[in-house]
Amino acid sequence: MSRSEKLRQRAKELLASKEVAMVIGYCAGSKPGLSQPAFITRPEEAQRLIFDSTCSQNLANYLLKVKNSGKVAVVAKGCDSRSIVVLLQENQIQRENLYILGVGCDGVVQNGAKSVSCLACQYPNPVIYDEMIGDEVEKPAPDPIVAKNDKEFEQLSSAERWQVLSEDISRCIRCYACRQVCPNCYCPVCFVDASMPQLVGRTHNLSDNMAFHIIRALHMAGRCVECGACHRACPMGIDLMRLNRRVARIVRERFDSVAGVDINKPPALTQFNPADPQEFIK
Ligand code: SF4
Ligand code: SF4
Repeated sequence: MSRSEKLRQRAKELLASKEVAMVIGYCAGSKPGLSQPAFITRPEEAQRLIFDSTCSQNLANYLLKVKNSGKVAVVAKGCDSRSIVVLLQENQIQRENLYILGVGCDGVVQNGAKSVSCLACQYPNPVIYDEMIGDEVEKPAPDPIVAKNDKEFEQLSSAERWQVLSEDISRCIRCYACRQVCPNCYCPVCFVDASMPQLVGRTHNLSDNMAFHIIRALHMAGRCVECGACHRACPMGIDLMRLNRRVARIVRERFDSVAGVDINKPPALTQFNPADPQEFIK
């Protein structure tokens, strides 16, 4: 039985037994080679479910939107499961209202190529689940090109890094697709939408754009699971993962913390430890 078939069978059983009120998974998209999130509530609809390399959305993003729908089953790749852990740690969802159908992931594709976030993925299997659908997959070796690009960026002076970022960020049209698809970006009123006071200008000049991206990156520090959903959603092709990977690396090195991999370990920025490195405070 293929993985998609197993998934359909389990979704059908979970709905028929009323163990869950909804299964959040993927179904075929509107064009060949695309998939889209599916919200299945009747056993006979479970046959629409698929799982393959086109299933790129981070489904944890929908858990907050259906949190009053009763117990929900959700299909979770490695990165989706890490977002679920972050949401659980932040008390946004309750574990008892969740049934996690784990799936190993060999990387998702975008425009025919493996997504850049998957090239650097170290957690292709779910870190938390109720049952696995299919086998776990092998952890891929880190992609040498991504590692080389990151190293070259690190070796630039701060003025040169600013220049590189500025050229990229200046193209942002402030559509907020990156924010909307992020499962861990859930404030009821985002700082960019606040009007009393208005914290960030709403134009898409470089200064306002940079304020949006830097503040968002800081909000996501220790919480971003590097799923790449924001990067794939950006209509301007802005390299959001470069910023996300850098922030994640700094958190890893300074706080010995990786977002969403250990539900029992408090998130990096929720604790103060006098021994934390702080040589940058002058
Ligand atoms: S900021 Fe981007 S990469 Fe990080 S969790 Fe959100 S969508 Fe995923
Ligand atoms: S998705 Fe891209 S263009 Fe839209 S706000 Fe985010 S970075 Fe800017």
